[in-house]
Amino acid sequence: MIMKIHRAYKFRLYPTKEQVVYIRKTFGCTRFVYNYCLDLKRKNKYLTKFDLMKELPKLKKEYPFLKEVDSSSLQNTITDLMVGFKKHEKGIGGYPKFKKKDEKEGFRTNFITSSYKGRVYENIKVNLVRRVIELPKLKCVKIRGYRNLDNINGRILNATISEVGTRFYVSVCVEEELEVSEPSNNQAVGIDIGVKNLVVTSNKEYYGNPKYLDKYERKIKRLQQELSRKAKASKNYIKCKKKLEEVYRKLKNARKKTVEKIVSNITRNHDIIIAENLQVKKMLVHNNNHKHLRKEITNATFSEIIRILKYKCLWLNKIFIQVSPYYPSSQICSKCGNRNEEMKDIRVRELKCSKCGLEIERDYNASINILNEGLRCYNN
Ligand SMILES: [Zn+2]
Repeated sequence: MIMKIHRAYKFRLYPTKEQVVYIRKTFGCTRFVYNYCLDLKRKNKYLTKFDLMKELPKLKKEYPFLKEVDSSSLQNTITDLMVGFKKHEKGIGGYPKFKKKDEKEGFRTNFITSSYKGRVYENIKVNLVRRVIELPKLKCVKIRGYRNLDNINGRILNATISEVGTRFYVSVCVEEELEVSEPSNNQAVGIDIGVKNLVVTSNKEYYGNPKYLDKYERKIKRLQQELSRKAKASKNYIKCKKKLEEVYRKLKNARKKTVEKIVSNITRNHDIIIAENLQVKKMLVHNNNHKHLRKEITNATFSEIIRILKYKCLWLNKIFIQVSPYYPSSQICSKCGNRNEEMKDIRVRELKCSKCGLEIERDYNASINILNEGLRCYNN
């Protein structure tokens, strides 16, 4: 069976001075169009994406500088704005806000191919041998990353150029075809994800919470305090904000590495991986009087585990199952099935079953339940 997946290749980008000017100009133009359209939507909520797209030619006449940048980036910013409104309507996001200059900036440009007199023209091209990317209007820009690849397989869909901290990146989204086959051995494993232990498996493997999370948390807290004391949009404010973004970036990278290591250990010997649905657990973290920043970091780590598990399973032809968010994996005794309500309190680390007398560590017990529940769902 052939399956199509989208995959992002993220490269560090090394633009020349002139290219930096163009990139920042595009940031400005997309921000301008975004804010202009947001203002129209605020005044008339019935405006559709199509209505807003129709504004573009008028805007370009009125503000000729918009003609200098790639036009698909302007269309994409309208698409993003409408996605923001859709999310808000569904209750999964706040009302879209105006974009400010000092925020993390980026724009997305679409892949276009055409042919003229028998010659095929493509506006985005990645050359991993010469280590350059060709982008609309920018022409060739130096890139770094994916040293072991000499080619990107698949069809390029778009490229997103961003500036984070003091660095530029390009993320190239590619559609790849994947051959998916049935699993070879049917070894299944259940995993419990948590605050005390990051991951516990039904094979009794424990993966602790890495120490660096605390280190970065302290750094972020310090920089956030520093930032709050500075005058908004001042030079020092922007400098401090860049530093903060840099720490977030480092945290993100460190987290990704840790999670990837855990996930490859788990997927190596198993074909069916069963995890929880983390919606309820995320709420538990919220109710546990944790400070806001800790919640944010913990939830991001949880999401990263699920994201990489899903991705890795797809990549390695494994089956990934998530049990219902309402399944009480921590309360049920994995031996007799009795429900022990006192386990609702997440500070209780040991389950002592009131029916069969089993004594078992909380997270390990949960992982066995997750395995059993997942297999029950899978076989039905
Ligand atoms: Zn029991």
